[in-house]
Amino acid sequence: NSKTERAIGPLSTAAFARAQKLIPGGVNSPARAFGGVGGTPLFIDHARGPHLFDIDGHRYLDYIGSWGPMILGHAHPEVIEAIHQAAARGTSYGAPTEAESELAEQIIEAVPSVQRVRLVNSGTEATMSAIRVARGVTGRDKIIKFAGNYHGHADSLLVSAGSSAATLGVPDSPGVTQGATQDTIVLAYNDVQGLTEAFNQYDGQIAAVILEPVVGNMGCVIPTKEFLAAARSLTEKAGTILIFDEVMTGFRVAFGGAQQRLGVTPDMTTLGKIVGGGMPLGAYGGRQSIMDQVLPAGKIFQAGTLSGNPVAVAAGSATLRILKEDSPYEYLERLGDRLAKGLDAAATDAGLPHQVQQVGSMMTLFFNPNPVNNWDDADRSDRERFGRYFWGMIGKGIYMPCSQFEALFFSRTHTESMIDETIDAAKEVLKSC
Ligand code: PMP
Repeated sequence: NSKTERAIGPLSTAAFARAQKLIPGGVNSPARAFGGVGGTPLFIDHARGPHLFDIDGHRYLDYIGSWGPMILGHAHPEVIEAIHQAAARGTSYGAPTEAESELAEQIIEAVPSVQRVRLVNSGTEATMSAIRVARGVTGRDKIIKFAGNYHGHADSLLVSAGSSAATLGVPDSPGVTQGATQDTIVLAYNDVQGLTEAFNQYDGQIAAVILEPVVGNMGCVIPTKEFLAAARSLTEKAGTILIFDEVMTGFRVAFGGAQQRLGVTPDMTTLGKIVGGGMPLGAYGGRQSIMDQVLPAGKIFQAGTLSGNPVAVAAGSATLRILKEDSPYEYLERLGDRLAKGLDAAATDAGLPHQVQQVGSMMTLFFNPNPVNNWDDADRSDRERFGRYFWGMIGKGIYMPCSQFEALFFSRTHTESMIDETIDAAKEVLKSC
């Protein structure tokens, strides 16, 4: 692919060769390897505002934003200052700080379902812990998840996690045992009938339903009103805990997350990404009666040496303060609409079957003739074409997610003229896709 060769400089190429000898696949998380599109990833030197700078000195307009956290743009001065100040006082105490209560208060005030919250180190830990709590509280084993929803890499959730086979309890990865996933029921997203039938079939056995209230992990997929309403009413009737995984959508699609935007309140919520302001931090929370069963208030075990880490908490707290005081959401909405319309027109002009699916500053251009409402729909998208689009955009200095099954994100440091440049680039690139 000649575009690949032109876009990726010699220093990134050498750095990747070295990394591959040291780190599995050269990366510390698989999505970074450009696996979906084949090729060498950019190695990053630094980032500022909407831009990434690679070690070859190329500048890219960033539509990944570290896969979600960087809603304020990279290296926001107030966030960096908060990190500096916290780090100078010591990087970990293993003892409580007032700053943790400050961040907890910010989360509780923002997210409708959260009355008590526990801080952890990643989205994976948040969902893993929420599932344990739901099982502990209900005394039941089974959980329901939806194909194409990713909830991190805890064993019981690594089933149809943004990949195919909506089969009962078949793990996605070697090393995940049948035992670990046999209580995981996988259903199709947006399928009210399937969900209703599962509640009939497993009456009284379902501890939790976990879902992405706007999906990012099969590309951007939007729940129907009926689906969310059914999830809420069926769980309520069955005494099942409804968990919204808002690791991606929390503080992204609205300050209070998708639950605020869509007006559906779950029993528990998991958070990550933005809540840590670009540092490793996640959180899970919910009603007081549920969360007070977590040790040491209750008996359900969950812990972490670095949980509530003062540097991560400082970054998260500064980020949430800025998002509250100087709300970017209307601006992001306007830019999102502009980008969605522009990409849609560009793909139409190029004569390509496509869908642009968008919620605020989160969207996906699917190379798919039909609306994408679930994993089977997403799976019918033209990945080869997506690869050509991705590399074409890289060649124009625009860094998009490297998979058809990821949503793009932008930040409040992206400007209208940057959005227009992106649309112009897409117009050209899509002509030869
Ligand atoms: N849940 C969702 C909805 C996610 O998008 C992700 C990460 N992309 C996770 C959980 C896992 O978070 P982490 O990568 O921080 O473990």
